[in-house]
Amino acid sequence: MTEKEQLAIYDMKIKLCAQSHYKCEICGKVINAYNCQLAHIKPQTKQNIKKYGKEYIHSENNNKVVCSLECNYKAQEKTGCNNV
Ligand SMILES: [Zn+2]
Repeated sequence: MTEKEQLAIYDMKIKLCAQSHYKCEICGKVINAYNCQLAHIKPQTKQNIKKYGKEYIHSENNNKVVCSLECNYKAQEKTGCNNV
């Protein structure tokens, strides 16, 4: 990952944290841009990237801020065939 990409992710975290009022979007735990994780709603699988485009998959419209891996997992849309 390049420095630019890392900055873009951090930017998105700041934005999404503000939108969620600094709470995990799954369990409501207080988070901030340093300790939160981005969770892809539509998982970044090859099929999804093909279907929706890389830009959408990595956009703030397809990401939530969550507190942990457990919440990250819960944030993903489960469609059965996407868990590749
Ligand atoms: Zn959480």
